[in-house]
Amino acid sequence: MKFETKAIRIQTENSQHREHSTPIYPTSSFVYDSAEQMGRLFAGEEKGNIYSRFSNPSVREFEEKMAALEGTENAMAAASGMAAIFASFMAFLKEGDHLIASGALFGSSWQVVSDTLPKLGISYTMVDSQDIDSWESAVQENTKMVFLETPSNPGLTITDLKAVGKFCKKHKLIYNVDNCFATPYLQNPKKFGADLVTHSATKFIDGQGRVLGGAVCGSNEHIAKVYAFIRRTGASLSPFNAWVLSKSLETLAVRMDRHCDNAEALAKFLKRHPKVNKINYPHHKSHTQYAIAKKQMKRGGGVVTFELKGGLRAGKKFLNKVKMCSLTANLGDSRTIVSHPASTTHAKLPQKERLSLDITNGLIRVSVGLEHIDDIKNDIKQALG
Ligand code: PLP
Repeated sequence: MKFETKAIRIQTENSQHREHSTPIYPTSSFVYDSAEQMGRLFAGEEKGNIYSRFSNPSVREFEEKMAALEGTENAMAAASGMAAIFASFMAFLKEGDHLIASGALFGSSWQVVSDTLPKLGISYTMVDSQDIDSWESAVQENTKMVFLETPSNPGLTITDLKAVGKFCKKHKLIYNVDNCFATPYLQNPKKFGADLVTHSATKFIDGQGRVLGGAVCGSNEHIAKVYAFIRRTGASLSPFNAWVLSKSLETLAVRMDRHCDNAEALAKFLKRHPKVNKINYPHHKSHTQYAIAKKQMKRGGGVVTFELKGGLRAGKKFLNKVKMCSLTANLGDSRTIVSHPASTTHAKLPQKERLSLDITNGLIRVSVGLEHIDDIKNDIKQALG
């Protein structure tokens, strides 16, 4: 089956009611016929659901779809993207281990790597995601894993997935990629050697800003370890959220194509605008890693960033002038969302650190929605005016 078909046709079995759309299974636990059966399930001698922190049919449907769409053997759902990322670290890293992480990481991932992991005795080295040759000097005897995201949030930095795949193979490192911005429709890191693919399903996978969710995709062997961590620590996805996300996956391909159409058109419009210094879009020729983005991403994605000529003051002013676009912390929604990281989400970081994350003072991030492109352009045009 092709991507679009798998996203729709993979579903849990019908119940006795023969429903067409899959039902939700909002239950904390499952009942047994006898003490013997209960014993067999707990001993792992019989397959079946026991308790929804461990497994649930709605959650399993979402996991099976995610594994099929990422091309991995298995997947484990988590309560949010950060729960999935943290589980992908904790399932494989222990005190004394070392992690190589791309410097171009989403803020919370950056904080987990640079603050939470060191508290657990796990050290890290942040590397330049565009200079993979320099990573050799970061490898230590105790290095276990490489973690990166491409395109990155909010800088839209592209990392060469194939080159990192070779690097990880050479040094026998677990290769972990956050694929949130591209989604499995535009990019499959497994094809380039990734062992683990993490997702914040809260973004384009849900696509309508309704629920939090996450997933880790990988081999059966790797997912068994992630499963054990999530089952024990309780970062499990709720059946309701899993059901919403599973339904969302059915329309992911068509939604992503429209996000990309609108984002391409907006990037072209902004490129010509006199108040814009620079635009950033992975499939626009002006992107510094355009050639790599073209090789590893089917299309450029739903996020465009641009640099306003007036810096911080202009950034804040722009946010206050948009009428239709939403000012909110999320992205990947059907609604177009604008944000100005330097005065909001990243305002507490010193400018030097902001710049190291490619967050300039005038940077505006647009998560381009599914409204008509003329309305998106008109709103941004009048705000720029
Ligand atoms: N990874 C990336 C690239 C993100 O942009 C986000 C959230 O913005 C996350 C992970 C975390 O996802 P969640 O908010 O679902 O925990």
